[in-house]
Amino acid sequence: MQLLSAPLPGETIYSWCATQHASNSNISAARSAAHLLGGSHAMRQHDLPASLGRLPILDRGDESSIINLLRKHTIGAFYWPFLGVPQRHKVIAAISDESDIHWRRTLCASSRSRPTDHPLRWCAQCAFDDAHTEGRAYWHVAHQLPTCYACVTHQTRLHIARSTPKSWQLPPQNGTIDQRPPDATATALLAASLSQSICDLDNIDVSGLRHAALMQLRDMGVIVSLHSVQHDRVFRWFAQTSASAWCQEHAHGLNHLADGHWIPALLWRRRMSHPVLWAVLWLALEWSSPIDACVAFRDAANGQVQLPGGQLSLLAFDEQVMVNAPPNVRGAFMVSQSYGEVMARLQVSRGDVVRWLESDPSLRQEWRQLLREGKQLECESILRAAVLSDIHITRAVLQHKCDAAYRWMREHAPHKLYAMLQSIPARLAVQPTLFD
Ligand SMILES: [Zn+2]
Repeated sequence: MQLLSAPLPGETIYSWCATQHASNSNISAARSAAHLLGGSHAMRQHDLPASLGRLPILDRGDESSIINLLRKHTIGAFYWPFLGVPQRHKVIAAISDESDIHWRRTLCASSRSRPTDHPLRWCAQCAFDDAHTEGRAYWHVAHQLPTCYACVTHQTRLHIARSTPKSWQLPPQNGTIDQRPPDATATALLAASLSQSICDLDNIDVSGLRHAALMQLRDMGVIVSLHSVQHDRVFRWFAQTSASAWCQEHAHGLNHLADGHWIPALLWRRRMSHPVLWAVLWLALEWSSPIDACVAFRDAANGQVQLPGGQLSLLAFDEQVMVNAPPNVRGAFMVSQSYGEVMARLQVSRGDVVRWLESDPSLRQEWRQLLREGKQLECESILRAAVLSDIHITRAVLQHKCDAAYRWMREHAPHKLYAMLQSIPARLAVQPTLFD
Protein backbone atom coordinates (compact mmCIF):
# COMPACT_ATOMS: atom_id res chain seq x y z
CA MET A 1 0.00 0.00 0.00
CA GLN A 2 1.25 3.42 -0.86
CA LEU A 3 0.80 6.14 1.72
CA LEU A 4 -0.53 9.25 0.11
CA SER A 5 -0.17 12.17 2.43
CA ALA A 6 -0.44 13.36 6.00
CA PRO A 7 -3.92 13.90 7.42
CA LEU A 8 -5.54 17.22 6.57
CA PRO A 9 -5.66 19.77 9.39
CA GLY A 10 -8.54 18.79 11.66
CA GLU A 11 -9.05 15.41 10.01
CA THR A 12 -9.59 12.30 12.12
CA ILE A 13 -7.33 9.25 11.96
CA TYR A 14 -10.32 7.16 10.89
CA SER A 15 -10.91 9.60 8.06
CA TRP A 16 -7.29 9.44 6.95
CA CYS A 17 -7.33 5.62 7.04
CA ALA A 18 -10.60 5.59 5.07
CA THR A 19 -8.91 7.74 2.43
CA GLN A 20 -5.93 5.35 2.26
CA HIS A 21 -8.31 2.44 1.96
CA ALA A 22 -10.29 4.11 -0.83
CA SER A 23 -7.13 4.69 -2.80
CA ASN A 24 -6.42 0.94 -2.64
CA SER A 25 -9.84 -0.23 -3.60
CA ASN A 26 -8.72 -3.72 -4.48
CA ILE A 27 -8.09 -4.80 -0.88
CA SER A 28 -10.55 -5.60 1.91
CA ALA A 29 -11.40 -3.29 4.77
CA ALA A 30 -9.88 -5.79 7.21
CA ARG A 31 -6.61 -5.83 5.27
CA SER A 32 -6.45 -2.06 5.27
CA ALA A 33 -7.13 -2.10 8.99
CA ALA A 34 -4.38 -4.64 9.61
CA HIS A 35 -2.00 -2.73 7.41
CA LEU A 36 -2.67 0.73 8.86
CA LEU A 37 -3.33 -0.08 12.49
CA GLY A 38 -2.33 -3.68 13.05
CA GLY A 39 -5.85 -4.95 13.76
CA SER A 40 -8.45 -6.32 11.38
CA HIS A 41 -11.32 -4.53 13.19
CA ALA A 42 -9.62 -1.17 13.60
CA MET A 43 -12.22 0.54 11.42
CA ARG A 44 -14.77 0.00 14.16
CA GLN A 45 -12.76 2.24 16.48
CA HIS A 46 -13.57 5.35 14.50
CA ASP A 47 -13.16 7.67 17.49
CA LEU A 48 -9.89 6.44 18.93
CA PRO A 49 -8.02 3.44 17.51
CA ALA A 50 -6.62 1.26 20.31
CA SER A 51 -3.49 0.46 18.33
CA LEU A 52 -2.81 4.07 17.44
CA GLY A 53 0.88 3.47 18.11
CA ARG A 54 1.16 1.30 15.02
CA LEU A 55 0.01 3.99 12.64
CA PRO A 56 2.69 4.27 9.96
CA ILE A 57 2.71 8.07 10.09
CA LEU A 58 3.43 8.08 13.82
CA ASP A 59 6.89 8.16 15.36
CA ARG A 60 6.29 6.01 18.43
CA GLY A 61 9.50 7.06 20.05
CA ASP A 62 8.61 10.73 19.85
CA GLU A 63 6.36 11.89 22.65
CA SER A 64 5.41 15.12 20.92
CA SER A 65 4.41 13.19 17.80
CA ILE A 66 1.99 11.09 19.87
CA ILE A 67 0.56 14.13 21.66
CA ASN A 68 0.19 16.01 18.41
CA LEU A 69 -1.66 13.10 16.80
CA LEU A 70 -3.98 12.71 19.80
CA ARG A 71 -4.73 16.41 20.05
CA LYS A 72 -5.01 17.26 16.37
CA HIS A 73 -6.51 14.15 14.84
CA THR A 74 -8.58 12.34 17.44
CA ILE A 75 -11.30 13.11 19.97
CA GLY A 76 -8.51 12.90 22.53
CA ALA A 77 -8.25 16.64 21.81
CA PHE A 78 -11.26 17.21 24.06
CA TYR A 79 -10.04 15.05 26.94
CA TRP A 80 -6.31 15.75 26.95
CA PRO A 81 -6.46 19.19 28.66
CA PHE A 82 -8.28 17.60 31.61
CA LEU A 83 -5.60 14.95 32.18
CA GLY A 84 -3.11 15.24 35.01
CA VAL A 85 0.58 14.70 34.43
CA PRO A 86 0.65 11.03 35.61
CA GLN A 87 -2.26 10.13 33.33
CA ARG A 88 -0.61 11.84 30.39
CA HIS A 89 2.56 9.80 30.95
CA LYS A 90 0.46 6.68 31.25
CA VAL A 91 -1.36 7.33 27.98
CA ILE A 92 1.81 8.19 26.07
CA ALA A 93 3.64 5.13 27.42
CA ALA A 94 0.72 2.86 26.56
CA ILE A 95 0.54 4.14 22.98
CA SER A 96 4.28 4.02 22.61
CA ASP A 97 4.97 0.50 23.85
CA GLU A 98 1.45 -0.99 23.82
CA SER A 99 1.87 -1.89 27.47
CA ASP A 100 -1.69 -1.08 28.48
CA ILE A 101 -4.67 -1.70 26.25
CA HIS A 102 -6.95 0.43 28.44
CA TRP A 103 -5.28 3.76 27.72
CA ARG A 104 -8.38 4.99 25.91
CA ARG A 105 -10.37 4.70 29.14
CA THR A 106 -7.69 6.70 30.94
CA LEU A 107 -7.72 9.38 28.28
CA CYS A 108 -11.51 9.69 27.97
CA ALA A 109 -12.21 9.21 31.68
CA SER A 110 -14.83 6.66 30.70
CA SER A 111 -15.85 3.65 32.69
CA ARG A 112 -16.73 0.21 31.45
CA SER A 113 -20.27 0.65 32.79
CA ARG A 114 -20.80 4.04 31.22
CA PRO A 115 -18.68 4.53 28.13
CA THR A 116 -18.96 7.89 26.41
CA ASP A 117 -20.71 7.79 23.09
CA HIS A 118 -18.87 9.17 20.08
CA PRO A 119 -21.14 8.48 17.11
CA LEU A 120 -19.76 9.56 13.75
CA ARG A 121 -21.06 13.00 12.82
CA TRP A 122 -20.75 15.19 9.78
CA CYS A 123 -22.03 18.37 8.20
CA ALA A 124 -23.26 17.91 4.63
CA GLN A 125 -22.37 21.48 3.68
CA CYS A 126 -18.84 21.05 5.06
CA ALA A 127 -18.49 17.77 3.15
CA PHE A 128 -19.64 19.54 0.01
CA ASP A 129 -17.20 22.39 0.54
CA ASP A 130 -14.33 20.01 1.41
CA ALA A 131 -14.89 18.04 -1.77
CA HIS A 132 -14.41 21.25 -3.74
CA THR A 133 -11.53 22.73 -1.79
CA GLU A 134 -9.61 19.64 -0.62
CA GLY A 135 -10.67 17.25 -3.33
CA ARG A 136 -12.46 14.94 -0.90
CA ALA A 137 -14.87 15.02 2.00
CA TYR A 138 -13.40 14.03 5.33
CA TRP A 139 -14.42 13.52 8.94
CA HIS A 140 -13.71 16.60 11.03
CA VAL A 141 -12.26 16.11 14.51
CA ALA A 142 -14.30 19.13 15.66
CA HIS A 143 -17.54 17.33 14.73
CA GLN A 144 -16.63 14.16 16.65
CA LEU A 145 -16.04 15.86 20.00
CA PRO A 146 -18.38 14.48 22.66
CA THR A 147 -20.51 17.61 23.06
CA CYS A 148 -20.49 18.73 19.43
CA TYR A 149 -23.75 18.17 17.57
CA ALA A 150 -23.81 21.33 15.49
CA CYS A 151 -21.66 22.85 12.75
CA VAL A 152 -20.48 26.23 13.97
CA THR A 153 -19.62 27.30 10.43
CA HIS A 154 -23.02 26.54 8.94
CA GLN A 155 -25.11 26.84 12.12
CA THR A 156 -26.92 23.60 11.42
CA ARG A 157 -27.33 20.31 13.21
CA LEU A 158 -24.82 17.62 12.33
CA HIS A 159 -25.87 14.37 10.74
CA ILE A 160 -25.32 11.43 13.07
CA ALA A 161 -24.40 7.96 11.85
CA ARG A 162 -26.85 5.43 13.25
CA SER A 163 -24.31 2.68 13.84
CA THR A 164 -20.61 2.05 14.20
CA PRO A 165 -19.04 1.70 10.75
CA LYS A 166 -18.03 -1.82 9.72
CA SER A 167 -15.73 -0.59 7.03
CA TRP A 168 -13.80 2.51 6.01
CA GLN A 169 -16.17 5.24 4.95
CA LEU A 170 -15.98 8.91 4.15
CA PRO A 171 -18.85 11.36 4.68
CA PRO A 172 -21.42 11.36 1.85
CA GLN A 173 -20.41 14.12 -0.55
CA ASN A 174 -23.60 14.58 -2.46
CA GLY A 175 -27.33 14.17 -2.34
CA THR A 176 -27.95 15.69 1.06
CA ILE A 177 -26.77 19.17 0.16
CA ASP A 178 -30.11 20.13 -1.39
CA GLN A 179 -31.85 19.69 1.90
CA ARG A 180 -30.48 22.01 4.51
CA PRO A 181 -30.52 20.26 7.89
CA PRO A 182 -32.46 21.91 10.70
CA ASP A 183 -30.88 24.98 12.25
CA ALA A 184 -28.93 24.21 15.38
CA THR A 185 -30.27 25.59 18.64
CA ALA A 186 -28.30 28.26 20.48
CA THR A 187 -27.35 25.68 23.11
CA ALA A 188 -26.13 23.20 20.50
CA LEU A 189 -24.00 25.92 18.91
CA LEU A 190 -22.60 26.94 22.28
CA ALA A 191 -21.81 23.29 23.05
CA ALA A 192 -19.93 23.05 19.76
CA SER A 193 -18.00 26.29 20.34
CA LEU A 194 -17.20 25.35 23.89
CA SER A 195 -15.90 21.91 22.90
CA GLN A 196 -13.51 23.63 20.49
CA SER A 197 -12.39 26.06 23.18
CA ILE A 198 -11.67 23.13 25.47
CA CYS A 199 -9.45 21.53 22.84
CA ASP A 200 -7.47 24.77 22.53
CA LEU A 201 -6.53 24.75 26.22
CA ASP A 202 -3.25 23.14 27.24
CA ASN A 203 -4.29 22.44 30.77
CA ILE A 204 -7.52 22.68 32.73
CA ASP A 205 -7.59 23.48 36.43
CA VAL A 206 -10.72 21.67 37.59
CA SER A 207 -10.77 23.52 40.92
CA GLY A 208 -10.89 26.75 38.91
CA LEU A 209 -13.92 25.47 37.00
CA ARG A 210 -15.53 24.46 40.27
CA HIS A 211 -15.04 27.87 41.87
CA ALA A 212 -16.22 29.76 38.81
CA ALA A 213 -19.29 27.55 38.41
CA LEU A 214 -20.21 28.03 42.07
CA MET A 215 -19.80 31.79 41.77
CA GLN A 216 -21.99 31.85 38.70
CA LEU A 217 -24.67 29.68 40.32
CA ARG A 218 -24.62 31.97 43.29
CA ASP A 219 -24.98 35.07 41.12
CA MET A 220 -27.89 33.39 39.40
CA GLY A 221 -29.54 32.82 42.78
CA VAL A 222 -29.53 29.03 42.36
CA ILE A 223 -27.38 28.51 45.43
CA VAL A 224 -26.90 30.72 48.44
CA SER A 225 -23.76 29.39 50.05
CA LEU A 226 -20.68 27.91 48.44
CA HIS A 227 -20.59 25.17 51.00
CA SER A 228 -24.09 23.87 51.37
CA VAL A 229 -26.73 23.20 48.85
CA GLN A 230 -30.28 22.08 48.54
CA HIS A 231 -30.04 19.35 45.95
CA ASP A 232 -33.70 19.57 45.03
CA ARG A 233 -33.38 23.19 44.00
CA VAL A 234 -30.32 22.49 41.87
CA PHE A 235 -32.20 19.65 40.18
CA ARG A 236 -35.27 21.84 39.62
CA TRP A 237 -33.15 24.63 38.22
CA PHE A 238 -31.17 22.38 35.88
CA ALA A 239 -34.25 20.54 34.60
CA GLN A 240 -35.68 23.79 33.22
CA THR A 241 -32.45 24.91 31.50
CA SER A 242 -31.91 24.66 27.77
CA ALA A 243 -28.85 22.54 28.55
CA SER A 244 -31.10 19.88 30.06
CA ALA A 245 -33.39 20.02 27.03
CA TRP A 246 -30.35 19.69 24.78
CA CYS A 247 -29.22 16.58 26.68
CA GLN A 248 -32.54 14.95 25.86
CA GLU A 249 -32.92 16.40 22.41
CA HIS A 250 -31.19 14.07 20.02
CA ALA A 251 -30.83 10.98 22.16
CA HIS A 252 -27.09 11.22 21.67
CA GLY A 253 -26.11 9.40 24.82
CA LEU A 254 -26.38 12.36 27.17
CA ASN A 255 -30.01 11.76 28.19
CA HIS A 256 -28.95 10.48 31.59
CA LEU A 257 -27.57 13.95 32.39
CA ALA A 258 -30.91 15.75 31.86
CA ASP A 259 -32.05 15.51 35.50
CA GLY A 260 -28.93 17.23 36.88
CA HIS A 261 -28.49 14.61 39.61
CA TRP A 262 -24.77 14.48 38.89
CA ILE A 263 -24.20 18.16 39.74
CA PRO A 264 -23.80 17.95 43.55
CA ALA A 265 -21.17 15.23 43.23
CA LEU A 266 -19.32 17.34 40.67
CA LEU A 267 -19.40 20.55 42.69
CA TRP A 268 -19.45 19.56 46.33
CA ARG A 269 -18.47 15.98 46.86
CA ARG A 270 -15.73 16.33 44.24
CA ARG A 271 -16.06 12.69 43.42
CA MET A 272 -16.72 13.15 39.77
CA SER A 273 -14.90 15.28 37.30
CA HIS A 274 -15.74 14.05 33.86
CA PRO A 275 -14.93 16.49 31.03
CA VAL A 276 -18.38 16.06 29.47
CA LEU A 277 -20.05 16.97 32.76
CA TRP A 278 -18.09 20.20 33.00
CA ALA A 279 -19.07 21.13 29.47
CA VAL A 280 -22.77 20.39 30.07
CA LEU A 281 -22.79 22.30 33.36
CA TRP A 282 -21.18 25.24 31.62
CA LEU A 283 -23.95 25.30 29.01
CA ALA A 284 -26.54 25.65 31.76
CA LEU A 285 -24.92 28.64 33.47
CA GLU A 286 -26.34 31.92 32.21
CA TRP A 287 -23.87 33.71 29.96
CA SER A 288 -24.45 36.91 28.06
CA SER A 289 -23.08 35.40 24.84
CA PRO A 290 -21.33 32.27 23.54
CA ILE A 291 -18.05 34.19 23.44
CA ASP A 292 -18.55 35.23 27.04
CA ALA A 293 -19.16 31.58 27.99
CA CYS A 294 -16.01 30.39 26.25
CA VAL A 295 -13.87 33.19 27.67
CA ALA A 296 -15.21 32.50 31.16
CA PHE A 297 -14.42 28.80 30.73
CA ARG A 298 -10.88 29.58 29.60
CA ASP A 299 -10.32 31.95 32.50
CA ALA A 300 -11.73 29.46 35.01
CA ALA A 301 -9.63 26.66 33.52
CA ASN A 302 -6.59 28.87 34.02
CA GLY A 303 -7.50 29.43 37.66
CA GLN A 304 -8.97 32.89 37.22
CA VAL A 305 -12.36 33.75 38.67
CA GLN A 306 -14.27 36.58 37.05
CA LEU A 307 -15.82 39.14 39.35
CA PRO A 308 -17.84 42.23 38.49
CA GLY A 309 -14.91 44.45 39.45
CA GLY A 310 -12.35 42.49 37.45
CA GLN A 311 -10.53 39.24 37.78
CA LEU A 312 -9.26 37.55 40.85
CA SER A 313 -6.72 34.80 41.07
CA LEU A 314 -7.82 31.64 42.80
CA LEU A 315 -4.99 32.21 45.23
CA ALA A 316 -6.82 35.24 46.58
CA PHE A 317 -10.22 33.58 46.36
CA ASP A 318 -11.80 33.34 49.74
CA GLU A 319 -15.04 33.98 51.51
CA GLN A 320 -14.45 37.73 51.51
CA VAL A 321 -15.52 38.02 47.92
CA MET A 322 -18.68 36.14 48.71
CA VAL A 323 -20.00 38.66 51.23
CA ASN A 324 -21.95 40.90 48.88
CA ALA A 325 -25.20 39.59 47.50
CA PRO A 326 -25.35 39.59 43.69
CA PRO A 327 -27.17 42.52 42.05
CA ASN A 328 -30.30 40.60 41.13
CA VAL A 329 -30.73 39.37 44.71
CA ARG A 330 -30.17 42.84 46.16
CA GLY A 331 -32.60 44.26 43.61
CA ALA A 332 -35.28 41.78 44.67
CA PHE A 333 -34.88 42.77 48.31
CA MET A 334 -35.08 46.46 47.49
CA VAL A 335 -38.51 46.19 45.90
CA SER A 336 -39.95 43.75 48.44
CA GLN A 337 -41.69 44.52 51.68
CA SER A 338 -41.64 41.05 53.17
CA TYR A 339 -39.87 37.70 53.22
CA GLY A 340 -42.74 36.30 51.19
CA GLU A 341 -42.22 38.83 48.40
CA VAL A 342 -38.47 38.14 48.25
CA MET A 343 -39.13 34.40 48.23
CA ALA A 344 -41.59 34.77 45.35
CA ARG A 345 -39.34 37.08 43.35
CA LEU A 346 -36.23 34.89 43.66
CA GLN A 347 -38.04 31.56 43.80
CA VAL A 348 -36.19 30.62 46.96
CA SER A 349 -37.08 29.36 50.42
CA ARG A 350 -37.36 31.39 53.61
CA GLY A 351 -34.12 29.80 54.79
CA ASP A 352 -32.35 31.20 51.73
CA VAL A 353 -33.67 34.70 52.41
CA VAL A 354 -32.33 34.43 55.95
CA ARG A 355 -28.94 33.22 54.68
CA TRP A 356 -28.65 36.06 52.17
CA LEU A 357 -29.30 38.54 54.95
CA GLU A 358 -26.85 36.84 57.26
CA SER A 359 -24.09 36.74 54.70
CA ASP A 360 -24.45 40.37 53.61
CA PRO A 361 -24.62 42.83 56.54
CA SER A 362 -25.03 45.89 54.32
CA LEU A 363 -27.97 44.28 52.53
CA ARG A 364 -29.48 43.42 55.90
CA GLN A 365 -29.15 47.00 57.11
CA GLU A 366 -30.47 48.57 53.93
CA TRP A 367 -33.43 46.25 53.75
CA ARG A 368 -34.25 46.77 57.40
CA GLN A 369 -34.25 50.52 56.77
CA LEU A 370 -36.42 50.06 53.71
CA LEU A 371 -38.91 47.88 55.58
CA ARG A 372 -39.01 50.40 58.41
CA GLU A 373 -39.80 53.23 56.06
CA GLY A 374 -42.45 51.17 54.32
CA LYS A 375 -43.98 50.07 57.59
CA GLN A 376 -43.98 53.60 58.97
CA LEU A 377 -45.77 54.92 55.90
CA GLU A 378 -48.32 52.15 56.28
CA CYS A 379 -48.91 52.88 59.97
CA GLU A 380 -49.15 56.61 59.37
CA SER A 381 -51.71 56.05 56.68
CA ILE A 382 -53.80 53.78 58.95
CA LEU A 383 -53.79 56.41 61.70
CA ARG A 384 -54.52 59.19 59.23
CA ALA A 385 -57.45 57.29 57.74
CA ALA A 386 -58.91 56.66 61.19
CA VAL A 387 -58.71 60.35 62.09
CA LEU A 388 -60.17 61.49 58.78
CA SER A 389 -63.06 59.06 59.14
CA ASP A 390 -63.89 60.51 62.53
CA ILE A 391 -62.66 64.01 63.15
CA HIS A 392 -63.91 63.89 66.72
CA ILE A 393 -61.80 60.90 67.57
CA THR A 394 -59.80 61.04 70.78
CA ARG A 395 -56.32 59.66 71.34
CA ALA A 396 -57.69 56.85 73.44
CA VAL A 397 -60.17 55.79 70.77
CA LEU A 398 -57.53 56.11 68.08
CA GLN A 399 -55.18 53.90 70.08
CA HIS A 400 -57.95 51.38 70.60
CA LYS A 401 -59.05 51.32 66.95
CA CYS A 402 -55.55 51.18 65.45
CA ASP A 403 -53.80 49.24 68.15
CA ALA A 404 -51.07 47.57 66.05
CA ALA A 405 -50.17 50.68 64.03
CA TYR A 406 -50.25 52.82 67.15
CA ARG A 407 -47.96 50.49 69.04
CA TRP A 408 -45.58 50.16 66.08
CA MET A 409 -45.32 53.91 65.78
CA ARG A 410 -44.81 54.30 69.49
CA GLU A 411 -41.93 51.85 69.38
CA HIS A 412 -40.22 52.75 66.09
CA ALA A 413 -41.20 56.34 65.32
CA PRO A 414 -42.26 57.92 68.61
CA HIS A 415 -41.44 61.47 67.54
CA LYS A 416 -43.57 61.21 64.46
CA LEU A 417 -46.42 59.69 66.46
CA TYR A 418 -46.11 62.44 69.02
CA ALA A 419 -46.25 65.06 66.31
CA MET A 420 -49.34 63.47 64.82
CA LEU A 421 -51.06 63.21 68.18
CA GLN A 422 -50.37 66.87 68.87
CA SER A 423 -53.30 67.74 66.71
CA ILE A 424 -55.66 65.43 68.57
CA PRO A 425 -56.76 66.46 71.99
CA ALA A 426 -56.57 63.90 74.72
CA ARG A 427 -60.29 64.32 75.29
CA LEU A 428 -61.77 67.33 73.56
CA ALA A 429 -62.54 67.29 69.93
CA VAL A 430 -60.57 69.98 68.20
CA GLN A 431 -60.22 70.22 64.48
CA PRO A 432 -57.20 68.09 63.55
CA THR A 433 -54.65 69.82 61.38
CA LEU A 434 -51.76 67.51 60.77
CA PHE A 435 -54.08 64.81 59.49
CA ASP A 436 -55.59 66.96 56.76
ZN1 LIG B 1 -20.61 22.73 8.17
